[in-house]
Amino acid sequence: MAEPRPLRVAIVGSGPAGLYAAGHLLENPAGTFIKGRLVKQITMPVEVDVIDRLPTPWGLIRGGVAPDHPDKKRMSRVFDAIAHRPGFRFIGNVSVGASVSPADLSAWYDAVIYAVGAEDERRLAIPGEDLPGSHAARQFVGWYNGHPDFSHLTFDLSSERAVIIGNGNVAMDIARILLKPVDALRQTDIAAHALAALAQSRVREVVILGRRGPEDAAFNFPELEELGELPDTAIGVEGAEAERVVLASTPGHGPKMAALKALCTQRRSGHRKIILRFHSAPVEVLGHHQVGGLRIASTGNAGAETEVLQTGLVLAAIGYRGKALNGLPFDARRGVIPNRDGRVIDEGQPVPGAYVTGWIGRGPQGIIGSNKKCARDCVQSLIADADAGVLPAGGTLSADAVLSKLTKHAPSLTRYTDWQHIDRQEQHDGAQLSRPRLKRTTLAELLACLPAPPFNVAETAGQ
Ligand code: NAP
Repeated sequence: MAEPRPLRVAIVGSGPAGLYAAGHLLENPAGTFIKGRLVKQITMPVEVDVIDRLPTPWGLIRGGVAPDHPDKKRMSRVFDAIAHRPGFRFIGNVSVGASVSPADLSAWYDAVIYAVGAEDERRLAIPGEDLPGSHAARQFVGWYNGHPDFSHLTFDLSSERAVIIGNGNVAMDIARILLKPVDALRQTDIAAHALAALAQSRVREVVILGRRGPEDAAFNFPELEELGELPDTAIGVEGAEAERVVLASTPGHGPKMAALKALCTQRRSGHRKIILRFHSAPVEVLGHHQVGGLRIASTGNAGAETEVLQTGLVLAAIGYRGKALNGLPFDARRGVIPNRDGRVIDEGQPVPGAYVTGWIGRGPQGIIGSNKKCARDCVQSLIADADAGVLPAGGTLSADAVLSKLTKHAPSLTRYTDWQHIDRQEQHDGAQLSRPRLKRTTLAELLACLPAPPFNVAETAGQ
């Protein structure tokens, strides 16, 4: 009997959510470990094309995770192993929504999983927010990670104080990068332009503003403890909460208060300083042509006087936000594609063959590993629909036919072998400077190191 034709799935986005979804679909022959047991979830042949708008894979692992967190960046090894499984193809430098539409993908594949992350940021909605010197954290993070969207930006690091609004893990990442000695940053894969700018930085004090109290701070423990590992850096709590934190006795005050108290007690002096301010909300970014300060007010104390923090750099680390994708439903209030168990929902009804996983489906929350279960739930819905015969019938193209369509729409598309080439080049260039990697940070630089286009499009299935 002839082999059944494989289920052909496109995954849009090659970050952790997309790669975990690919890993679940292209399950190891022995099955997947679920609660300590090997379970065979997929019984049909599957082929997966992971499509990304960048020529390089790994999403936030490459463009978001802080460069001084190499253990997290090493997650890409897990994803590289998935990329080597039979049935996997990476197709980069194809922008879904610009080069091809969701409708094209629906016509060419049995099913499409959108794992595009949160490509926008929350807004402060206060006066002065758009002054030069006031930026969304996403821009600063993308800049120091050499993301092609942000590598052209510049940040004014000439004032002694920087203020970060929000006290989540992104705020912690940024505070460390601003204050870490440049020699330590040189050992990471931080972008060369950021390293050069930080080497000239005059920032010596970083104020991190939380609008709620220390017990409700959004940072995780490891990130708080890491602040204490910064050399020659004092840690302090200022404002209304200062006394309460310093007087806090461990039992009864909660673990975050205890950890803060320990940090403030142990790290009293240093040439650099991190100040955590709680119950403090931004009111106005001040300045005429450039940020000169930030007016803040105490929350929970209506009518309290405001205070001005002098600074030339304000970074709003108040969370990311999903972006609408033309042709797909979007919940503008939550910034997500509405879905039920990963099935895209439009006006209460599932959109046949369309699925979602990761931040674009559940909002910008959770650590990298949170995406594993999220992707599994999504893939389980997809497979259940395939088994039930409710995926859209007919029209699905072969791997070769899809590639030739995509090549027509995006002639400079890249394949996994191109990424491997870029990866080797970056590591080679880094080694010349005793660095782990020298990132190529613009589309032109990334594509310039590849063989002349069309790159590897003659390849069909596999890598
Ligand atoms: P986040 O954890 O949601 O923190 C956002 C912060 O901004 C909170 O302190 C929030 O205060 C505050 N905020 C929101 N709106 C505000 C406003 N209008 N004015 C003032 N403050 C405001 O976001 P994130 O730091 O961007 O992180 C996103 C996700 O990525 C999180 O799940 C995080 O754990 C994860 N992440 C993990 C790592 C890691 O594992 N090392 C690194 C980076 C990011 P409220 O709490 O009062 O709302």
